[in-house]
Amino acid sequence: MIIVMKNNCTKQDVENVIAVLKEHGLGANLSTGSQKTIVGVLGDKTKLSDVNLELMDGVEKCVPIMSSYKLASRDMVPEGRTVNVGGEIIGANQLCMIAGPCAVESEEQMMQAAAGVKAAGAKFLRGGAYKPRTSPYSFQGIEEAGLKILRKAADAYGLKAVTEITDHDLIPVAEPYCDMFQIGARNMQNFRLLREVGRTKKPVLLKRGIANTIEEWLDAAEYIMSEGNYNVVLCERGIRTFETATRNTLDVSAIPVVRERSCLPIIVDPSHAAGKAAYIESLSLAAVAAGADGLIIEVHPNPKKALSDAAQQLTPKAYAELFGKVRAVAEAIGRTI
Ligand code: PEP
Ligand code: MN
Repeated sequence: MIIVMKNNCTKQDVENVIAVLKEHGLGANLSTGSQKTIVGVLGDKTKLSDVNLELMDGVEKCVPIMSSYKLASRDMVPEGRTVNVGGEIIGANQLCMIAGPCAVESEEQMMQAAAGVKAAGAKFLRGGAYKPRTSPYSFQGIEEAGLKILRKAADAYGLKAVTEITDHDLIPVAEPYCDMFQIGARNMQNFRLLREVGRTKKPVLLKRGIANTIEEWLDAAEYIMSEGNYNVVLCERGIRTFETATRNTLDVSAIPVVRERSCLPIIVDPSHAAGKAAYIESLSLAAVAAGADGLIIEVHPNPKKALSDAAQQLTPKAYAELFGKVRAVAEAIGRTI
């Protein structure tokens, strides 16, 4: 349930409402927007059966949240949340550009990737040190050595570092080296991993599962938020359909649906959706035009030699060209890039 406060309510009115919630063993999530102040009730609202909150000073109305996800719902923060990743804001008017190779392979590769990504204008460097591969015989990542290289390359070029963790045991290992955890499509419903990243303060990039509905995805975000970490960014990366011409099918419709139903920023990964370098630019432009809050794109200094996802990685040159076109679309729709 959310409690919508009157436009002219006082700070004391809000404090009194929160105090009543606390007295009844409930938590409160305060959202102070430019239009409305909203108090989200956290916990079992039947505990409030003996109070009529609507009679309290400053309260306009109490509205039940019908969805299974509450903190991730749009009702909770009608203006939308922003996520601060080491000083870079994701959400609001900003268009967040994350790029880098599928996997960290060597220091030389990461330094070249970081140089290209930075020169194009991106602020975030990606690179997987732990790779969730379909086959156990495929390259699995260089693990902690990769985290160290990612951090070094990001720092050398003043970029924020984003990396995937595939298991809850890796949280303390990766935490010192990255600015944002990525939870991959295959782990979207790894509930222990979700809960445990929820107990950290580190921003989380939560990819949509290969065959998950938007509702299941938002419920997964709720797992993280219910543990206290509200710094969640959603990432649409294509879903499995009957079509085989592309690796996955980019669900562009997920962008307006998520923006309507959730307060969380949503970015798009065209690389894993398309699976082929030639299609990445087109999907990127579509995603930005449709209202995505950013793009995460695979860029490798020498894609042909990549140890994973070779077919879909862009050269730094192709990424710089794409970036220029994305900038034009972003500016046309009033976004800052
Ligand atoms: C990745 O980002 O390299 C990755 C494995 O992505 P996904 O989880 O979307 O497949
Ligand atoms: Mn990849």
